[in-house]
Amino acid sequence: MTENNSQKNETQYEYSFEYIQKKLEGKKDSFGMLMKEIVRTGICTECGTCAAVCPVLEWDDLAGQPKLIGKCTGCGICYNQCPRTITDPYQLMGDFKTGYVANTNIPEVIGGQDGGTVTSLLCYLFDEHLIDAAVVTMKDPSKPWRPVAQIITSKEDAIKASGSIYSHSQTVEALMDAVRQDFRSIAFVGTPCNIDAVSKMFDSPTGMLKYFMRCHVLKIGLFCMDSFAPEAIYPFFESEGIDLSKVQKMDINKGKFHLYYDPQGEPFKSYTIKQLDKFKSSSCNFCLDLTSEHADISVGSVGSGANKNTVFARSGIGAEIMEDAAEKGYLKIEPFNAINLNAVLFLAKLKKVSQYTVRKRKVFIVRDAPEEEPRIETKPETEQAEVTPPLGTKKFLSVSKDLNEEKKTVNISLTNTIGYVLEDMKIRIATVEELFEKKPWITTITELFPFETIEIGYPLEGEPGEPVVANVLVEVSTEAFGKIFSRTLKVAPQE
Ligand SMILES: Cc1cc2nc3c(=O)[nH]c(=O)nc-3n(C[C@H](O)[C@H](O)[C@H](O)COP(=O)(O)OP(=O)(O)OC[C@H]3O[C@@H](n4cnc5c(N)ncnc54)[C@H](O)[C@@H]3O)c2cc1C
Ligand code: SF4
Ligand code: SF4
Ligand code: SF4
Repeated sequence: MTENNSQKNETQYEYSFEYIQKKLEGKKDSFGMLMKEIVRTGICTECGTCAAVCPVLEWDDLAGQPKLIGKCTGCGICYNQCPRTITDPYQLMGDFKTGYVANTNIPEVIGGQDGGTVTSLLCYLFDEHLIDAAVVTMKDPSKPWRPVAQIITSKEDAIKASGSIYSHSQTVEALMDAVRQDFRSIAFVGTPCNIDAVSKMFDSPTGMLKYFMRCHVLKIGLFCMDSFAPEAIYPFFESEGIDLSKVQKMDINKGKFHLYYDPQGEPFKSYTIKQLDKFKSSSCNFCLDLTSEHADISVGSVGSGANKNTVFARSGIGAEIMEDAAEKGYLKIEPFNAINLNAVLFLAKLKKVSQYTVRKRKVFIVRDAPEEEPRIETKPETEQAEVTPPLGTKKFLSVSKDLNEEKKTVNISLTNTIGYVLEDMKIRIATVEELFEKKPWITTITELFPFETIEIGYPLEGEPGEPVVANVLVEVSTEAFGKIFSRTLKVAPQE
């Protein structure tokens, strides 16, 4: 390279570095985040891009990771080049035509969950005869704060349905009822997981509604970070002396869960989301979509001020409906740049990066059986006959073993082959030596679905360097069927 060329390239490089630095100002990406999210989680591909772009990073061959050799300014350039980070708005919150900050213009709707945008849209759609039904979620009148999905046909009912219930609601069941009842144009309000179900039913080659031409569904998606299992969180609230029947509003805002007796007033009780983490629905740990990426219109609160909504119109019809609802006086809207997009992107990223730390439900940790624990009792033949359905000679489980000589572990895989859910399976594993059992381990699996496989790593004893040979007893029983599997497996290195 000539000296001139090299100077020119250096200038271009410096220019790019500074330009991107400015673009990234105010974001919280940094080298520390790169290490935490990508390198330490083990998903770094060792491509070296981070080290290639930054003058204070070099590639550490020995450790197989980037190494800081100067002062990091926290500019985030390395983080934003890494092929494994999720940084672009499109990756974080899907495609959209335009966005708005919106709130209701209808006096009866003020005081809804946030800006009342969802309810106002439903009012507009009913008034304009654009829909003949909507699927919403209301509180079960007989059980305080339990969600119940409903088909509604009037704007009065839409107003009654306003407000968020932070639990899973079986909205698709109500949608299918509406389809069966021959409603032709339906607005569907749901969380991102609900919206995904409907999208799949319409778009997948094997979707139930793919070839269904009799109805149209407008998908109004809510933003959603978490939901909570009602059977766990409500008893907790009650144990804290909270009378759920008196609670008028629940709200999640800036990492806190607030409860209100007066929806216009201050919360009477607040918890950090961390405090309530144990009540979170397990599915939400596996969820990557904050903003209902497959909806026609997505509505949330993050990114807009109090009593307002952040809205993304994703489809053409979604954008037209937003504009027309505003023009006809149902909504007040502010343009896209009124959204605090960084706040939305930050939260969306928190959700997307959870995929790096998700633990697959594949390997279960077995626990030591207490010495005095009785052996799993097999039910008497007669009792078994009563509870066992006519299963013929079909096997309940298929079992395979795989010896890991290095780790001195035998991996036992159990696959449910019966075609029914096996509930409350007790699995007992022990080493058998001259008719005596050693090292019994026991674990209970609440549900094993048909053709689901679980793997259990059972440690074996043996001197280092010596081949492992053992007889391993595997016994499985369930409440309903008694003992369903009992076999001693010979474990030895392959010839
Ligand atoms: C489980 C859950 C988690 C959420 N998490 C976030 C978040 O982290 N960040 C954020 O910005 N926004 C979140 N939201 C969205 C937020 O609470 C509001 O729903 C949204 O801002 C719309 O406000 P709005 O004033 O237009 O609602 P409203 O006009 O009051 O209308 C709310 C609509 O939501 C429907 N609804 C209520 N509960 C459910 C439910 N469980 N399932 C399906 N539909 C329901 C009602 O039928 C009603 O039509 C969440 C909502 C839910 C249900
Ligand atoms: S200076 Fe910027 S690019 Fe370099 S390590 Fe720090 S955050 Fe990364
Ligand atoms: S750019 Fe990302 S994937 Fe590549 S080496 Fe750096 S941390 Fe690893
Ligand atoms: S976090 Fe995901 S899985 Fe949980 S309720 Fe929200 S959209 Fe559904």
